[in-house]
Amino acid sequence: MPSDLLHPFAPPSKEQFVTIVSGRGATVTDDHGNDYIDSMGSLWYANIGHGNSEMADAVNAQMRKLEAYHLFDPFTNEPSEQLATKISSIAPMPNSRVFLTSSGSEAVDTAMKLARVAMGQAGHPERTIIVTRVRAYHGVTYGGMSAQGLPLNQAGFGPLLPGIINVPADDIEAMASVMAEHGHEVAAIMTEPVQGAGGVWPPVEGYLVGLERLARQHGCFLIADEVICGFGRLGTWFGSQYFGIEPDLVTFAKGVSSGYIPLGGVIVGHRVRQALESDPSFILRHGFTYSGHPVAAVAGLTNINIIERDGLRGRALHIGERLSAGFGALVADGIVAEVRSAGAVFGVRLNDGVEAISVRNAMLSKGVITRAIPPSTLTFCPPFVTTDDQLDRIVDALASSATSA
Ligand code: PMP
Repeated sequence: MPSDLLHPFAPPSKEQFVTIVSGRGATVTDDHGNDYIDSMGSLWYANIGHGNSEMADAVNAQMRKLEAYHLFDPFTNEPSEQLATKISSIAPMPNSRVFLTSSGSEAVDTAMKLARVAMGQAGHPERTIIVTRVRAYHGVTYGGMSAQGLPLNQAGFGPLLPGIINVPADDIEAMASVMAEHGHEVAAIMTEPVQGAGGVWPPVEGYLVGLERLARQHGCFLIADEVICGFGRLGTWFGSQYFGIEPDLVTFAKGVSSGYIPLGGVIVGHRVRQALESDPSFILRHGFTYSGHPVAAVAGLTNINIIERDGLRGRALHIGERLSAGFGALVADGIVAEVRSAGAVFGVRLNDGVEAISVRNAMLSKGVITRAIPPSTLTFCPPFVTTDDQLDRIVDALASSATSA
């Protein structure tokens, strides 16, 4: 019998799961006392690592002062205001504001709605299409699920949202021809800077700059879905800065709070702002009960301060270099087929005939958590506090598992 808990992204009939009970730095421990190096930062989010007591203290203090109060008109709260100011100051575009959510999926749906409603406010209600890429992951709510480019995640859930065009992932010409045909009806092009959950695919050279150019040419917005890339993963605050683009909307979640409290949001750039702010009688009828939860906001602020103060973006670059060298050597030795990476996020393609899930399981038994993207990719997104010794153990575990599995 399965337990009372219905698990996300799992077979509902499955009975056995690994019970994680505690964490510290880059390691977590299960209920049998086994330690694991968490080379996925849980699910792409534990940027500052587990068990940080400064975070626990900050969250605890806010909870004792004001556990929650909403931001619907006429209210606001200090932590949310401060977090918005902080995020605006590191954003990849000038003069931005910040809308808060509790998750990446909520952030994506918010960005899609903001793009459409801002177009309406700017006198272009006919601009409703959202153009996205094959292999994209944009979450699981109907907006984000419809927008993503991973058909397995859409199967069985009934009609998807209309007004989405999904184009081949790395083909700027394909995007250009979609824009040539539909550009006047497009509200936004949405892309991850590095496609993450689809298997870690950095863009081909010049692709994102090309997307930005197409968005400007055709008068639509550019949405960067930075749920994985944001908050230091590529060494820059945002992936948009790493690739030299200035989007109109940026979605974030995960690394903004390193997962200590669920938090996400959307950075709203000046073009979208202008449209939204132009008519004082317009009311933005969008928002979640927990848009601006003060405890989550404190977790975000404290997390960003820790990344800044402890130089963790530099540390992310170091992790990227060390893992690149380690995984690169495995490619050179023919142990794995290919490494794809940007900053400190990696996808490793195994040799033909070697199954990702069996290598994932073999690595788990050696004390390293990775993530399998079937059929043949493993992904890595380690906390910025992972030590050199732990990084080397990740590479060693992959080396011995990819050959024996
Ligand atoms: N967008 C991207 C790029 C993501 O990687 C994810 C989560 N993996 C999401 C959206 C959805 O975030 P959440 O699971 O917090 O809803």
